[in-house]
Amino acid sequence: MKRIKILDEKTIQKIAAGEIIERPSSVVKELVENSLDANATNITIEIRQGGKSYIRITDDGDGILEEDLSIAFKRHSTSKLTNANDLYRIMSFGFRGEALASISTVSKVEVLTKTNKDKFGVQAFVEEGKIIDKKPVGCPKGTTMIVRDLFYNVPVREKFLKSDISEANHINDIVYKLALGNPGVSFKYIKDNKIIFQTSNNNDILTNIYTLLGEDFSKNLLEINYEDVDFRIYGYISNNTFYRSNRKHQYIYVNNRYVDNNHISNLIECKYKSIIPINRFPVFVIFIDIDPSFIDVNIHPNKQQIKFINQNKLDSKLEYIINSQLNKNLSIPKKEFHE
Ligand code: ADP
Ligand code: MG
Repeated sequence: MKRIKILDEKTIQKIAAGEIIERPSSVVKELVENSLDANATNITIEIRQGGKSYIRITDDGDGILEEDLSIAFKRHSTSKLTNANDLYRIMSFGFRGEALASISTVSKVEVLTKTNKDKFGVQAFVEEGKIIDKKPVGCPKGTTMIVRDLFYNVPVREKFLKSDISEANHINDIVYKLALGNPGVSFKYIKDNKIIFQTSNNNDILTNIYTLLGEDFSKNLLEINYEDVDFRIYGYISNNTFYRSNRKHQYIYVNNRYVDNNHISNLIECKYKSIIPINRFPVFVIFIDIDPSFIDVNIHPNKQQIKFINQNKLDSKLEYIINSQLNKNLSIPKKEFHE
């Protein structure tokens, strides 16, 4: 008997899903990014038990046409790329067409959606990537995705999930980052029936910082705002009297996408070296808007790592902006802040 076999389709799907959906917070991230891509201005995120039993994302975006619904849950199905060249100018959060397929392979999904064109909305139930029930419903324009019993059919993965509190913390982290990075969208976050926060969609970064990070932050930040032909760089950096004992509050967004970029963080930290105590870290919320053909976001499935084609140019711009703002605003430190 031959020992090498091709895996069956169900197993292939579960393996692929496992790469994209690692834990409940991955579901939240993917679904909220879909809502943002659908031009939502109001997004509600509700989770129960750390997202293990229940995740609901409701948006007032474009909605999904009924005829597109079943294909939306198939792998590599996307409305965001039409040809390979589009890969080099990505402005949307999604483009791989894998999230809905993956999520619906490892959980029970309910979707309610309505576009502007339709009179009625549609409600559908999806399991193992397939629509098992579908009916018309009355609902407002937009989309609601409810994800129940994550990993119910992947016992190994379920076992590796942490406590409800710990999984909820992972979700908090993602939700704060998404809300902070999209001040034009109102986010409402509900955890175990309690409203945790609601942001406004007035496009004001500082109001958002106040709501999400608190008054202390909003009072101790310096505004940056720079624009040239290559970049727009704007947001807030802490003054020399406000710092933290870790790097948790360093937010960098490129075209509104939160990115992990140690290179940029280090570069900014260097500018604070002589003006804040040792082993303390500046706080910043920085937005970099750039022509999407000058970055590569397709490095990792979670798209949090990106590459800049013009890294040197960006570095020198950032150094200049941070330096000049800090030098203009040096003040005598009041007291050390401990978190
Ligand atoms: P991707 O985001 O990479 O395109 P997904 O699997 O996340 O892939 O979504 C597949 C498609 O389903 C999207 O391209 C989009 O057309 C549609 N879709 C998903 N979520 C929403 C939503 N909340 N509102 C409108 N359309 C959506
Ligand atoms: Mg997506």
